[in-house]
Amino acid sequence: MTKLQAIRGMRDVLPDETPMWQWLESKFRHMAFRYGYQEMRLPLLEPVSLFERAVGESTDIVSKEMYNFLDKSGEHITLRPEGTSGCMRAVLENNMCYNKTQRLWYQGPMFRYERPQKGRLRQFTQFGIEAFGMSGADIDAELIFMVRDLFRELGIQHHVRLEINSLGTPDERRQHRTKLVEWFGQHRALLDEESLKRLEQNPLRILDSKNPAMQEMIEQAPRLLDFLEQDSRHHFEILCELLDKAGIEYRVNPRLVRGLDYYTRTVFEWVTDALGAQGTVCGGGRYDGLATLFSDKTLPACGFAIGMERLLLLIQTVCDTTHPQWRDAPDAIITSERNDSGVQSLLLADFLRQNLPDLHILVDCSGAKLKRQHQTALSSGCRYIITLNSNGETRLWEPLNNRQLTLTQSQLIEQIKASSLSKL
Ligand code: ATP
Ligand code: MG
Repeated sequence: MTKLQAIRGMRDVLPDETPMWQWLESKFRHMAFRYGYQEMRLPLLEPVSLFERAVGESTDIVSKEMYNFLDKSGEHITLRPEGTSGCMRAVLENNMCYNKTQRLWYQGPMFRYERPQKGRLRQFTQFGIEAFGMSGADIDAELIFMVRDLFRELGIQHHVRLEINSLGTPDERRQHRTKLVEWFGQHRALLDEESLKRLEQNPLRILDSKNPAMQEMIEQAPRLLDFLEQDSRHHFEILCELLDKAGIEYRVNPRLVRGLDYYTRTVFEWVTDALGAQGTVCGGGRYDGLATLFSDKTLPACGFAIGMERLLLLIQTVCDTTHPQWRDAPDAIITSERNDSGVQSLLLADFLRQNLPDLHILVDCSGAKLKRQHQTALSSGCRYIITLNSNGETRLWEPLNNRQLTLTQSQLIEQIKASSLSKL
């Protein structure tokens, strides 16, 4: 029989890891709540044309990485590769910005057909923020403040650094593009195959190249920042001023272009050196031009997305992973000989759950010998082991202070309540 396996690049999150995911998700939700962002739940499937139009046909995502298929009625459907396009579609379709602004967040799986490696999966999870209807640099800074808070809260603030740039407006980009194509044309001999392709379609992306042989030439290429006109320059200055005044460290990286076509003006990334080549944990920026690709309305917007698997890898690499919230240890485990088919222990568990509703209680139904049940309970790290002996006695064992007591069931409740309080 052929072995059943998950699809390449798609992984299971096993119960050992889910407490960490839930902890991380709660930190995201709390950050969004503190800044007044509301949750959006978006479909996983969207029309292919949404991304062709929004992300751009020359991008890696649309040209190589999408999971496209025809559904039964012949529609061109895709598994979403990112969240911003779907979020913008939903905001416009539901007229959510009619006379008002929106601050939104989403979280969920994204799909890209890429070569799987450390920090790069074919199904991965993004947490994203999008702010609609606000054109000022203050919102760009607000987003950066949020990520700063989050990373501090997660304890990784010293392992990430912020890079920012401005991509200007389409007009400014066009002017820069002409000069850039000229420059790369003069140094054509140095360009690798990928860059020669980009020279035709998306020369800005050549700046992104990691090819060591091209670095020096790229460093000297014309800088988009030098082509910004008054408004874009002012926008960038306000952003820098806000970051300076809030004491946020950053580096202006003129080569930061981001993979997606729809960005205008501010772009930013938080990067780490702790994960090798897949070092970007958060990417975002402003995309004022995106709405006009869908409708005759203009709608300024900016946002960011965080790759959650990468963030977890980073946390696991640089933090002490014995964090109590990253374990799912039960509070109490009930062990017994089960001479009565487990009837008494299940009823005891029920009695405890009704009286101690916040406790995490597990009944050992394995049928193993009592000694083995105790070994399992001890290695789980639980606080209470409650044993129903064959003579009908109930014993409470607290491994942490190695106390053992024989108690009636109501004394058991009182003892656990008192001992839980003493822990606090
Ligand atoms: P990269 O340069 O790593 O390919 P990207 O520019 O394609 O990233 P975005 O589209 O901006 O990434 O997505 C935002 C974040 O989502 C990234 O910073 C990263 O943390 C995460 N991410 C993107 N692609 C993947 C992937 N294939 N597997 C895991 N995480 C990913
Ligand atoms: Mg990518």
